[in-house]
Amino acid sequence: MSIRKVRIKLLEDQKLGVLYCPVCGVVIHSKDISPACKHVVFSYIDLVGDFDTIAPKLRAVVNKAHKIAEQGETDVVDAVLNLIDSETMFCLEVVEGGEAAGGPYGGSVYLGIDFSP
Ligand SMILES: [Zn+2]
Repeated sequence: MSIRKVRIKLLEDQKLGVLYCPVCGVVIHSKDISPACKHVVFSYIDLVGDFDTIAPKLRAVVNKAHKIAEQGETDVVDAVLNLIDSETMFCLEVVEGGEAAGGPYGGSVYLGIDFSP
């Protein structure tokens, strides 16, 4: 079991702009996920440190992943990916960041996409 993660690293001066659902085309930016889109089954923002969107069918998986992550062997997102058994889902990871005057900044936004929700 597990689903694939596709990692996109933005260039240092790039900001995460608008993201569109690869299935239906609506805006799915982490802070502005359209309720019309059923394909985003979870979202997790590093800077927040928690899940923002969790589809009802994945709530039990996320709860289990939190327990696995508490044991310290993996992070909660990888635990979720390892627990999901699906041929129609993948995880998009968008990595933003670089070095600034105040030190390194940035983090990842993870979006679980299901082509057949
Ligand atoms: Zn969609």
